Amino acid sequence: MMTTSSLYIHIPFCKKLCGYCDFYKTMSLARKSEVLAATAREMHERATMLEGTVLKTIYFGGGTPTVCTPEELGALVACAREVFDCSEVEEVTVEANPDDLTEEYLAGLKSQGVNRLSIGIQSFRDEDLLMMNRRHTAEEAVRAVERARKAGFDNISIDLIYGLPTATLEDWRGNVERAVALGVEHISAYHLTIEENTLFGKKGITTAPEELSDKEYGVLCEVLREAGYEHYEISNFARPNYRSRHNSAYWHGVPYLGLGAGAHSFDGKNTRSWNLPSINKYLEGSSLESEILSTQERYEEIVMVSLRTAEGVDLVALEEQFGIAKRAQFERIAEPFVGAGVLLRKGENVAFAEEHWLVSDGVIAEFFD
Ligand code: SF4
Repeated sequence: MMTTSSLYIHIPFCKKLCGYCDFYKTMSLARKSEVLAATAREMHERATMLEGTVLKTIYFGGGTPTVCTPEELGALVACAREVFDCSEVEEVTVEANPDDLTEEYLAGLKSQGVNRLSIGIQSFRDEDLLMMNRRHTAEEAVRAVERARKAGFDNISIDLIYGLPTATLEDWRGNVERAVALGVEHISAYHLTIEENTLFGKKGITTAPEELSDKEYGVLCEVLREAGYEHYEISNFARPNYRSRHNSAYWHGVPYLGLGAGAHSFDGKNTRSWNLPSINKYLEGSSLESEILSTQERYEEIVMVSLRTAEGVDLVALEEQFGIAKRAQFERIAEPFVGAGVLLRKGENVAFAEEHWLVSDGVIAEFFD
């Protein structure tokens, strides 16, 4: 069977900067055309990385991909069709800002072969959106999802943020229920984090108290479980058959090529590479760096990523890749956590119990050297 692969394309532009955002982006669109041309060039130059694989997913992330016209995004999809084996592409996702999704724009995306939207809604409350410096209102968020549906998109994901200092537990519950009522197929919910270099960090804004965040995570899990969503990764929920294939590929160690300033790639074995987060360096063609992971680093990465998924660590696969001694070491460390009900043993898999997922970092660290 042919190895599968994924393609990530980073669009490093935003029209407005959100207070919490730590991604690489710029508000100046002056060099957008140059950057898109360089991205197509990079696709050709680095195509060998995915040689002998069949591409399954294409993902436009950012930044804000919807600052590009559908034709600009479509040109990169067309370029991928020239360069890679795209005969089995199942998912073409575009991250979108709600206020960019006009009827015309959505029809354009559809005609360019985009079949999944990941809409950055974050909250259905204007007070939260204002505090986060988002471009859209709650009303616009709802209308965007409705318009996307009308345009024929049947695979819609939305992002939400909890742990906000402006929302109560009931406000958060309202947000999750609103998402369910909209009937979206997929929900990603992330805890607000404050990095020093962000607007929030500079202003000294803090997250909600930990106790409230824990309760919010509990409400998220409970409301979405009752609504029939599968909690398949610590921050991700999907209706049956609507898991993100692109993100699932990352978690399963599938090779992926990341294009654009700040984008990361993995060869599926032991090499990671990335473009430095600088448009200038990217356009000069001098931004690519790489590292070879040691066996221990790869082991730790697999354990960490797997324990963030509902399937958890596959002991058989772990043994195949790292040997029986490493499997035994993993089982030895896992045993007391299994005994305490923090980790669950499901056949040949070990995974977190849902209620312990949010505080999983300390447990995961126990598996590291
Ligand atoms: S959160 Fe998204 S839209 Fe906001 S600044 Fe960051 S990349 Fe841009």
